[in-house]
Amino acid sequence: MNKPQALHNSLTGIKGLVFNEPLLFEMGSPGRTAYSLPKCDVPEVELEAILPATEIRNPIDNLPELTELDVVRHFTRLSQWNFSIDTNFYPLGSCTMKYNPKVNNETANLSGFAQHHPYTPETLSQGSLQLMFELQEYLKEISGMAHVSLQPAAGAHGELAGMLMIHAYHSTQGTQRKKVILPDSAHGTNPASAALCGYSVIQIQSDERGLIDPKKLESIMDEETAAIMLTNPNTLGIFETDILKISEIVHSKGGLVYCDGANLNAIMGKTKLNRMGVDVLHFNLHKTFSTPHGGGGPGAGPIGVAEKLSPFLPKPIIEHADGKYTLNHDRPDSIGKMKAFYGNFGILVRAYTYIRSLGPEGIKQVAEMAVLNANYIKASLYKHYHLPYNGPSLHECVFNDKLQLKNKVSTMDIAKMLIDYGFHPPTVYFPLVVKGALMIEPTETESKETLDDFIVTMKKIAELAETKPEVFHNAPHMPVVSRPDEITAARNPKLRWKPERSELS
Ligand SMILES: *Cc1c(COP(=O)(O)O)cnc(C)c1O
Repeated sequence: MNKPQALHNSLTGIKGLVFNEPLLFEMGSPGRTAYSLPKCDVPEVELEAILPATEIRNPIDNLPELTELDVVRHFTRLSQWNFSIDTNFYPLGSCTMKYNPKVNNETANLSGFAQHHPYTPETLSQGSLQLMFELQEYLKEISGMAHVSLQPAAGAHGELAGMLMIHAYHSTQGTQRKKVILPDSAHGTNPASAALCGYSVIQIQSDERGLIDPKKLESIMDEETAAIMLTNPNTLGIFETDILKISEIVHSKGGLVYCDGANLNAIMGKTKLNRMGVDVLHFNLHKTFSTPHGGGGPGAGPIGVAEKLSPFLPKPIIEHADGKYTLNHDRPDSIGKMKAFYGNFGILVRAYTYIRSLGPEGIKQVAEMAVLNANYIKASLYKHYHLPYNGPSLHECVFNDKLQLKNKVSTMDIAKMLIDYGFHPPTVYFPLVVKGALMIEPTETESKETLDDFIVTMKKIAELAETKPEVFHNAPHMPVVSRPDEITAARNPKLRWKPERSELS
């Protein structure tokens, strides 16, 4: 097939994928070293003479022997195999892969923060405690929740903390409840968190708007139901317009409202979750508040709660009185600790810096730009890709492959073809309510030029699907690895793979 025409910035991000990089074990030569030490000026002794046998490791066969430059080049090249937000557009829906301003890293790397030992006494930790306390206050201000704990290490971890608190709350109300209601558009971690707390999950089907229908909710909400877990705006990017009615229905039967805050990017600075009747909310600092993510962490998933749930927050709580910051461990009703020490502190420093550098007006502008960018893409592409829910939406837009499937081009094919053009594919096949979903979240950090490049490419791909559908079946054509068996690749990685020359062409 013809290799796709490169757009002006599109190839930089995938060039790395054509490298052929052997393992360190396959490189080097005996006797090479990455160091040179002066000659020993004291008598040599055998290790056995000075160390007990249990402290001496067995010799390792075939350790690679390399020079410093070999090692530097190897790891530098490997780092260029990564597709990252620092190299190109990465429109993963629901994940908010926004650019992370480097000033966040600068502050997190200040030695007073980066080298602050968690066992340092409180009196010598006032700066770090103040930062955490103030971050809690900012998150309270942004969300409207009465109290915040920074401890959980990820969104899913925050969900678990939230569900444990909901469980603890119902225990104090006399009878434990058995069920949690979830919409079918929920992120997979939501039912998992509810189930981990022993609840059975009751699914509520989204209506034709992609939203929770209050009438349907009313018919299943009962006094055995502990909570509803919803996301607002939901994973279709649509605001739950009946949220007040929804929380009223749940509260009227003694239940609680859990809000998955992963999509806070769309509404922060514009509205607050407490006004919607939310009792528990988690934040994804590694999404909304810009810390880098992907590749498995680290992250931070603070939780905010309404007043009635505050006794159950993870301990310790950071308090501020008489000019001093202290850690209060004396919390008899707390669900306990969710994380060693106080959470992933480096991530908290980044989020703090992000919020401080934007200020209240900047935070609001983030949400506005995120929504504008998503709607620009939606308006530019809706004639080329099917939009299953076409009402107003916020920070992301969800298309599917309905128009392309008639030429046997699927969402997976479209995603793979985007790699040839230097774009990371959007989220695919999620949310599950949309068959063949292509979920695009550009975020506020992308320029109009980047969005235009992406739009032109998506249109071109739609056209190719009409005129040359056969070229999709081997896409992507440019990278070394084209279509791995994704399950086998994850479960049984082939780390020693060395492509033959013929496989590279
Ligand atoms: C990312 C995400 C989560 C889970 O957050 P993690 O930090 O990845 O554990 C939950 N819900 C939604 C809607 C998300 O996008």
